[in-house]
Amino acid sequence: MTLPQKDPSAPPPEPVILPRSEHPISRKQIDEGSLKVLYRLSRNGHLAYLVGGSVRDLLLGRTPKDFDVGTDATPNRVKKLFRNCFLVGRRFRLAHIRFGGDNLIEVATFRRQARPEDLPEDPAEHFMVTENVFGTPREDAFRRDFTINALFYDIKTFSIIDYVGGLEDLQARRLRVIGNPLVRFTEDPVRMLRALEFAARLDFSLDEAVRSAISLRAPLIAEAAPARIREEIMELFRHQVAGKVLRSAQGLALLPHLLAGFGGDSATFELLDQVDARTAQGVAIDEPFALAALYLSRFLRTCPQDEQLMVTDAVRLAGLVLAPHCSYFHVAHGIRHQARELLVGFFRLRRGRGHRGERRFLQHPMTPQALELFSLWSKTSGQFGEVLEAWNQILNQAEESSPQPKKKTTRRRPRRSRRGRGKPSGGNPGN
Ligand code: ATP
Ligand code: MG
Repeated sequence: MTLPQKDPSAPPPEPVILPRSEHPISRKQIDEGSLKVLYRLSRNGHLAYLVGGSVRDLLLGRTPKDFDVGTDATPNRVKKLFRNCFLVGRRFRLAHIRFGGDNLIEVATFRRQARPEDLPEDPAEHFMVTENVFGTPREDAFRRDFTINALFYDIKTFSIIDYVGGLEDLQARRLRVIGNPLVRFTEDPVRMLRALEFAARLDFSLDEAVRSAISLRAPLIAEAAPARIREEIMELFRHQVAGKVLRSAQGLALLPHLLAGFGGDSATFELLDQVDARTAQGVAIDEPFALAALYLSRFLRTCPQDEQLMVTDAVRLAGLVLAPHCSYFHVAHGIRHQARELLVGFFRLRRGRGHRGERRFLQHPMTPQALELFSLWSKTSGQFGEVLEAWNQILNQAEESSPQPKKKTTRRRPRRSRRGRGKPSGGNPGN
């Protein structure tokens, strides 16, 4: 078979355009605030598209997380058109438009990939420019990561515009990188993790070129900004794909570069699947719980079941197991502390009932979560069934009897107030 030779002087191919009659997206499905923004931009003579994840999700019949807008209006122009608008971001300048309470619409001017001649002489200033060179809709589509993330919905014609073959890939349920995956992963190694994440979330297949490029470029992910990796890891948990994605990251040899020191054993993957199932049932996932689940297996290896080990040993060992991750990702003290409490709680639960300090442990604010972790681990490992039963019984009893006034309450109060002033017992003090 002979492939047609590319003519470099030929005009770029036309985008595929799906008119309203040929796609299922209706304006009723689009958030009201975003529609207002799209209409006002359009009435003022600008291109106004719904972009990114929302078009993908609507076409797949899923509910989008947010409705981002793309336009040819510059950020300053957007600011002039909307009173309730403020500009954010240095690296990637965006307009945020606020409607009502917490409805925030993100409006981005079409960008293109920066070329060497766009960059200032001083490399320290490159970051100001690399993501802020405005471009055409076509260029904006091509700078995006995956074909299915680069579809546009045009408010003027109600049609879908596809420059990159995203519609075909949606149909085939296939995740494909725009351009050469080796080049795109070198430009931004976080895309490797995003590829695994979207494939898992949407249950799409990974294009073979993507798989082999991840294997080849895996070490580069260690150079990505820790804050971005940390955020993407939490995204995996929020989207209930932590088990799946970290397992495939292991299969493609990405995992050791992503989380140095993370074991990646099958017991952990099974536990993460259980954590994902718990989130899918509607239990919110927070970072301490995610960290405790990620490092539980390693903690258990460091801190085996041994009558000689004291709670103070468990505290020290849990701290040691979590330390490399928490330092590398600059995890705030409060979150680190809670993750450690969960591991220590696990230690106390595993050794069974009847130890010193049990009554206080039962009233500790982290104990119910430690018990959840213990129960998930028990489910996947088949261990500790009887111990778990005993703890469940006493905790249920405590819950049932708690509405009645108890003498103990007055004695416990000083302890509460100390917690109140000092270590946080919930939430995320770091953010
Ligand atoms: P969701 O919000 O449901 O997780 P999304 O597709 O909206 O999915 P975001 O992370 O919100 O994902 O990013 C918005 C869009 O920005 C993406 O759809 C993609 O087009 C583009 N994008 C995000 N990150 C990158 C990246 N690292 N490289 C290139 N394009 C990116
Ligand atoms: Mg999004």
